[in-house]
Amino acid sequence: MDVIRVKNDVEGGKKAFELIKAGMENDIKVLGLATGSTPETLYQEMTGSNLDFSALTSVNLDEYVGLDGSDEQSYRYFMNDRLFNQKPFKETFVPNGKAQDLEAECKRYDQVIADHPIDIQILGIGRNGHIGFNEPGTSFDVTTHVVELTESTIEANKRYFDKVEDVPTHALSMGIGSIMQSKKIVLMAYGESKADAIKGMLDGPVTEELPASVLQNHPNVTVIIDEAAASKL
Ligand code: PGA
Repeated sequence: MDVIRVKNDVEGGKKAFELIKAGMENDIKVLGLATGSTPETLYQEMTGSNLDFSALTSVNLDEYVGLDGSDEQSYRYFMNDRLFNQKPFKETFVPNGKAQDLEAECKRYDQVIADHPIDIQILGIGRNGHIGFNEPGTSFDVTTHVVELTESTIEANKRYFDKVEDVPTHALSMGIGSIMQSKKIVLMAYGESKADAIKGMLDGPVTEELPASVLQNHPNVTVIIDEAAASKL
């Protein structure tokens, strides 16, 4: 894995943006996108740029079960608010957390991914090493699936909600198998809370107990980290 160290998330967002720009010069068609605080500076770079994304399709990693796209805590809302409302894409896909039949929704989303192979996948990383909502213990082979969120993830994400009881307990997530099919992966991590996960991902064994460690098996990964996230290396 190629590791780029940056001063902070602003510089990290600029680096990730350069990689997307280079990809667009090489005619990429599909971006895999992520939510959370990590990619925010990248999306600021994208919205502040004069680039036109209207020929690109986006496929997002995950969505909370039970939240509608109009709900401010939903990942669909986040993506519209941070990126798509300012910079229209050709098509944007996020799993439907309100689907009546969640298993059917997972199958539909697998088809979306199959129809739109991801050229560059943007990732954050959880404190426990999750990617997307693939929590520790998730099989590396899994495709889109329904996930029960761990306590650590609910704790980390409660900052977006009025109270912890409001954090959904389940999510739909693209699987690790699908993430690994992306041609290129750009993972960003900032802050000390990510230092253990980054250490395990880069230096530890490849294990389902630390989902991001699977990226050691991918041929084209760029990791962008600040000094705090790199502090245990
Ligand atoms: P964060 O979340 O970007 O809000 O830190 C990352 C993740 O949990 O994947």
